[in-house]
Amino acid sequence: MSKVYFAPARAKRWDYSASQVAGLERLIEKLDFSQAIAKGEYVAIKTHFGSEGAHRIVRPVFLRKIVEAVKAVGGKPFVCDTVRIQGWDYLEVANQNGINPQSVGCPVILADGLFGFDSIEVPAGPVLGSVRVASAIHDAPAMIVVSHCKGHIEAGFGGAIKNLAMGGVAGRHRSGDWKQARGHLHAAGAESSVMRDAELCIMCLQCLHVCPTEAISEVDGGLVVDDEKCWRCGRCERVCPEDAIKLQKRGEDEFQMALAEGAKAVLSTFQPGKVLFFNFVLEVQPECDCMPMADTPLVQDQGILASADIVAVEQAALDLINNAVPLPYSLAEDRGVKVGQRVLAGALGVDGQLHINAAARIGLGSQKYELVEV
Ligand code: SF4
Ligand code: SF4
Repeated sequence: MSKVYFAPARAKRWDYSASQVAGLERLIEKLDFSQAIAKGEYVAIKTHFGSEGAHRIVRPVFLRKIVEAVKAVGGKPFVCDTVRIQGWDYLEVANQNGINPQSVGCPVILADGLFGFDSIEVPAGPVLGSVRVASAIHDAPAMIVVSHCKGHIEAGFGGAIKNLAMGGVAGRHRSGDWKQARGHLHAAGAESSVMRDAELCIMCLQCLHVCPTEAISEVDGGLVVDDEKCWRCGRCERVCPEDAIKLQKRGEDEFQMALAEGAKAVLSTFQPGKVLFFNFVLEVQPECDCMPMADTPLVQDQGILASADIVAVEQAALDLINNAVPLPYSLAEDRGVKVGQRVLAGALGVDGQLHINAAARIGLGSQKYELVEV
């Protein structure tokens, strides 16, 4: 049974102590950073910078509190993510979403370098074989994983496991080989490519606009996908309203296992006890923060969870979301999800519980937790 500390979102008194920010301060006290961070150690604070149009990320005010707490025990924090779109543009997105050195109080960097190439190969497991962990995460002695919990079209749930599996590995590899980078988690088959069915395509161009690498271009009234530029992220397939563009992806079970293996590989680069987790169950939108929009939340804000156990904090977050009342004017309402039904699985049709189960099976932590309200 692992302890998961919980600062609820409701603020029932007109007092700072009732705020969500004060709740985070209490969570930080409970986790006692001095146990995980030695004086002078670099500390990666891994979060997601969002995307142009996706504003529902962990707000800078919370990141700053965590940065201040790391500094207070003598650590040297840096806030990081990995390349999702071209690196320079991604740092601009971070800035646009309010994440910059002035707002968070420490350097804001791309852990896999400005071009997404900086990584170190780490053994993963039977599905992935190995992954290339972003070098600044690989080399940091300690890490705080700050995750915005939400849905995800392929994973069913995006929390700490997905934040590390997808976000802890490098976006690209110098060789141009997508199998050496993040695309390896999504795509199946050595020669997996993006295929487009011209008969089904209505030329809405959503795939072209969402592609992070400009691999899709309009040629002679049709579309051409440049195999060399493609990172195999699968975004084009996700946004296509006509099922006209496809990436040969891993099957659902295999992908969910790949997420658990990827997270385990990233965590294997740290000594035990050197990684702590904060799950923000706020603004739980149905999609990943890397999409070019953010839909309305599926459930009301629940609060912030903190733990030293990645599986326990993920299970607690998913339980909070799935047991909450589905909100009107949301995808949950569109899909007819009723009170008492598991909200995320009902709204998305994919169950994120699978990768939490997989993470527990491979020894990342315990699904049994004690929720301690602070
Ligand atoms: S999978 Fe699609 S969206 Fe992703 S890089 Fe390749 S073409 Fe672009
Ligand atoms: S998103 Fe689908 S329908 Fe729209 S242009 Fe791309 S392939 Fe065609």
